[in-house]
Amino acid sequence: MRSLTEHDIRTSFVNCSKGEAKRLPLPRDLGERPWDDLDFLGWRDPGAPDRSYLVTEREGRAVGVTLRFPSSQRGFLHRSMCSLCLTTHPGGGVSLMTARKAGPAGREGNSVGLYMCTDLACSLYLRGKKALESGSRFEESLTLEQQIVRTRGHLIAFLDKLHA
Ligand SMILES: [Zn+2]
Repeated sequence: MRSLTEHDIRTSFVNCSKGEAKRLPLPRDLGERPWDDLDFLGWRDPGAPDRSYLVTEREGRAVGVTLRFPSSQRGFLHRSMCSLCLTTHPGGGVSLMTARKAGPAGREGNSVGLYMCTDLACSLYLRGKKALESGSRFEESLTLEQQIVRTRGHLIAFLDKLHA
């Protein structure tokens, strides 16, 4: 994806208030992120361990989503697979993240869940740019390019559910 600025990111969130988007913590090293190798930028909230964020690009526009994962659930899953990059991690390496839906449905408390890598480094696992500590990826018959298309497809389907 193209590199994003703080302004791009803060104005991209679809499922939180403008005030929340203004205050949420952004990574300090935006200029050094490996944008060419990212399907989305994901980061944890250092001040709120049950929160994380992801921003991707869709039809040339940045789209940001705030995610939550209940602390009681962390470390509970024995071994599970990320539904975006299909990497399997033991322990808390995969979490069920939930995103509040956009608009009125979200204000009524509706949310959408997604199993994903807790460290949000899916793009790097996919490209072999981040070593797995103890997880695994199965042998794929697809090319890297096809795997990237598939991952982006899963991500777009998730974004669509936020507006459904
Ligand atoms: Zn993943």
